[in-house]
Amino acid sequence: MKKNIFWLIIILIIILGVAQLLLKRQGQPEIQNNTVEIIPTVSQEEEVKSIYPIAEFRQRITKKTFGEYITLENSPVSPERFKGFHTGIDVEYEDVVGEVPVLAVCNGEIVLSKWVSGYGGVLILKCAENYYIYGHLKDSSITKNLNVLRGEQIGILGEGQTQETDFERKHLHFGINKKSADLRGYVQNERELENWIDPLESDIYKQ
Ligand SMILES: [Zn+2]
Repeated sequence: MKKNIFWLIIILIIILGVAQLLLKRQGQPEIQNNTVEIIPTVSQEEEVKSIYPIAEFRQRITKKTFGEYITLENSPVSPERFKGFHTGIDVEYEDVVGEVPVLAVCNGEIVLSKWVSGYGGVLILKCAENYYIYGHLKDSSITKNLNVLRGEQIGILGEGQTQETDFERKHLHFGINKKSADLRGYVQNERELENWIDPLESDIYKQ
């Protein structure tokens, strides 16, 4: 008799177990092929890292902006040597001691690098259609690479009031020309200015 009860309990346990398994399976969604969707956790925009020609690029444009007509009288810089429409922007580092690197904003070719009166060291980087002018660099720091990659260091700023900047303050003059390797930091009429783009309106930094 005891043996029968024992077997009855075992059978009951088995029946309950099978019933539970069947119920569980019913509640599960059916797995079909191609239903797995990978949802990206990082948006594409976040993955694109902006590269600017120099650190604190936007914050440090405190003196000369793009297209401003500079005269000896109205200039934010004293003494002023130049006159005309400013073809780029000036990023100021007089308060920074030590080396300030400048970076290539795009994959391209260095089409010019030399010491020029008014700039000290200057280079022009060409990417696609545009020419990127970096002025007031330490001449000897300018890269010897002809082809450079976006984000690559291509030089450092020259020291202010030395031959490196042709006795200008420590700052980066950065310009973008649409047509040619034109070094001019100022032009004398608005029609000529049309060959340049306002670097603050360029979208090159996000590419
Ligand atoms: Zn300038």
